[in-house]
Amino acid sequence: MLNYRNGLADMPSYDVVERPWDIKVNANECNLSLPPLVEERVMTRLSRVAFNRYPNEEYDDLRDQIARNFGMQRENVLIGSGSSEIIEKLFYCFGGSPEAKIVYPWPSFSMYPIYSKAAEATGVPVALSEDDYSLDLDKFIKTAVDEKARLAVICNPNNPTGNAFTVEQIEYIAKNLPADCAFLVDEAYMEFYGKSAMGLLKKYPNMIIARTFSKAYGLASCRVGYMLADEKIVTMIDKSYMPYHMNVLSLVTADICYQMRQEFVPHIQIMISERKRMQEELKKLPGVKVYPSETNFILVKYDKAKELNELFESKGIGVRHFGSAPGLKNCLRISMGRREENDTWYSYFKAFTEGRA
Ligand SMILES: *Cc1c(COP(=O)(O)O)cnc(C)c1O
Repeated sequence: MLNYRNGLADMPSYDVVERPWDIKVNANECNLSLPPLVEERVMTRLSRVAFNRYPNEEYDDLRDQIARNFGMQRENVLIGSGSSEIIEKLFYCFGGSPEAKIVYPWPSFSMYPIYSKAAEATGVPVALSEDDYSLDLDKFIKTAVDEKARLAVICNPNNPTGNAFTVEQIEYIAKNLPADCAFLVDEAYMEFYGKSAMGLLKKYPNMIIARTFSKAYGLASCRVGYMLADEKIVTMIDKSYMPYHMNVLSLVTADICYQMRQEFVPHIQIMISERKRMQEELKKLPGVKVYPSETNFILVKYDKAKELNELFESKGIGVRHFGSAPGLKNCLRISMGRREENDTWYSYFKAFTEGRA
């Protein structure tokens, strides 16, 4: 028997069923490739990479560019291997003992409880309402106060429920959290919602915003995310990173995508309009509850979710099935694919509800 660190054996794994799906709508990725103009620029840039050198200015170039866009400084920006890594580091940096409490609404991103455990912290979920996944803001704040939380997290818009909190709601939380509790807003799906808490950063020095290139920018393969916060927070979190943690290939690719972000606007609009179209289509199906969404995915509740998921799997369609997870019983989360992909999974869904499949 090998002797692993405490708690590792009991730690849950990220439980997504992956295989080469014909239609992959299980991970909220963008199902469109890079815009051709962007891809061309990326390829040219990649051909000029100094493969023998550690990343240096490439890291700061991307930080500068992001900082400039938000009227902030390089020192306010930290880049990670996906915002997952950033979130994991934040949990690590505010964790370290069972008394370190990290508060987040539930259901939310499945990794928050896992990162809490990994950080040897205590995750404290605050239940969203059963019927519409709304959050009792005062209950959330009170939990953070009572638990003397070190970190409070809001995913906005929320994955996997799809609903969003207004900037006013986020500010209400920011204003009422104790000043010694860091407040992370995970904006992985912000580009589909169009509203951000970024404008609150300067007013609330305990606030942190995390974003990713994996969803709206369709760059999940490169693993690039970033956070913005007060310089003092960035300096502390940066200590948890090894030197040269970002590779140049990902950095320069993200740099070009960010420079050319206008090129992604039509893609984002397509995903939003597909989501709206599919929400309307799904509402026509008997027995299917369709939750509101401000993201590139839709959460549905359906009594026969398990059987439907089996049908999807047998047809090579991967969606996210939550089984009997707390607050998500009989729920399926379907990311928006390309139009024809959406038509395909929908036709199986419809046939199933009509007893034809
Ligand atoms: C996808 C996602 C992320 C991060 O994705 P990365 O690929 O690691 O950048 C973070 N938070 C939520 C809620 C997500 O859904």
